[in-house]
Amino acid sequence: MALNEKPLSVADAQAAALEWIEPVGVERVSLLEASGRVLAELVAAPHDLPAFDNAAMDGYAVIAADTAGTSEAAPARLTVIERVTAGETPQRALASGQAARIMTGAPLPEGASAVVMQERVRREGDTLTLTCPAREGDNIRRRGEDARAGQAVMAPGEWLTAAHVGVLSAFHRALVAARRRPVVAIVTTGDELIEADELPAPGKVVNSNAYALAALARESGALPLVLPLVRDDEARIASAFAEAARAADLIVSSGGVSVGDRDLVKSALTRLGLEARFWRVWMKPGKPLLFGRLLGRPCFGLPGNPVSSMVCFHLFVRPALGKMLALPEAQWRLPEVTATLTRDVRTKGDRPTYLRAQLSYAADDWRADVLPGQGSGMLTSMLGASGLVFFPEGKTQGAAGERAPALRLAPLGQA
Ligand code: AMP
Ligand code: MG
Repeated sequence: MALNEKPLSVADAQAAALEWIEPVGVERVSLLEASGRVLAELVAAPHDLPAFDNAAMDGYAVIAADTAGTSEAAPARLTVIERVTAGETPQRALASGQAARIMTGAPLPEGASAVVMQERVRREGDTLTLTCPAREGDNIRRRGEDARAGQAVMAPGEWLTAAHVGVLSAFHRALVAARRRPVVAIVTTGDELIEADELPAPGKVVNSNAYALAALARESGALPLVLPLVRDDEARIASAFAEAARAADLIVSSGGVSVGDRDLVKSALTRLGLEARFWRVWMKPGKPLLFGRLLGRPCFGLPGNPVSSMVCFHLFVRPALGKMLALPEAQWRLPEVTATLTRDVRTKGDRPTYLRAQLSYAADDWRADVLPGQGSGMLTSMLGASGLVFFPEGKTQGAAGERAPALRLAPLGQA
């Protein structure tokens, strides 16, 4: 295959991959299934919200003017003419000198212009005594104050949260148009791998990438489809990827894309007719990273080192899923900050390097604790990693107190 002779820069590789990514289709989902999905319609209020003026407190609906100038010495006395609880409608309009007992959420009687908290009044029989004035509008939730009929309140591309779901249901909606969840096939390759429920054996390691990548896909709004582990055998690799292409919108594999004797993913995919876009990216961890289109599906061949595969997912697959979900770029691009290093850091500097770090924000500044153990196989260092500090090629050390760019590893849609 005619591929990049030299490894691409991260930015060029990201852009090249995105060129081949298309949004998935739209489906209507029930509100109970909607959170964590991406909205695919403009939502406008179908009616005023709230739909009627109502009481914000338990108390008494009054005409504010009736209470003007009242005090302990000069109280107002009003006659309670009815009681309105939430869900009822008032039967009578208030005339001067009258009040209505009213509960939170109940519609305001005609003529009423304030609600007085019950703690502020004395009531004997139907007589209400007020010793301080009520102001117009006190404790009233006005019709339309939350949203006006016709007002647009949500736009396509928003990540649906519990708040969205609440508002949609307040608008009488049972279904909402959302992007389909992209199905991400996860193909893991390697003769040395065993599944977590198999007995440990000499030279074998557990296939942790299948789980980590599936979790990343799920956190990114996709549906992971984990295929059975594949041995380093060209024919088996080819048939696993062919199945992945049939079943999924996007293929993500781990392992077998480097230059070792058993790195057969590239040749197997070439046999299957991969339209390769690039192989190798000038970065660390990572570098052997293959991207192309396989049987019509975009396909990322990630390196097998557990940290490399996760970091490459964040840098390349996550943006692709963001574009498939039609999220705006600001939501899928990893947010970049400038952070102060909390300790001295050394790297080889042989490639642009992403260092796992714990990012925290305090006193108007981001701080980056670069974690010890930066080897690309050292998976536990991902545990505390909430960000990646970036060192350009040639930078071999950073001193405590120095400022460096860093990417925050916020889940898609929560940047
Ligand atoms: P590879 O990219 O296939 O050369 O693998 C590089 C390193 O990553 C090797 O040490 C593998 O054992 C390890 N590795 C590959 N695939 C996985 C996996 N699915 N889970 C955990 N480690 C893996
Ligand atoms: Mg391998």
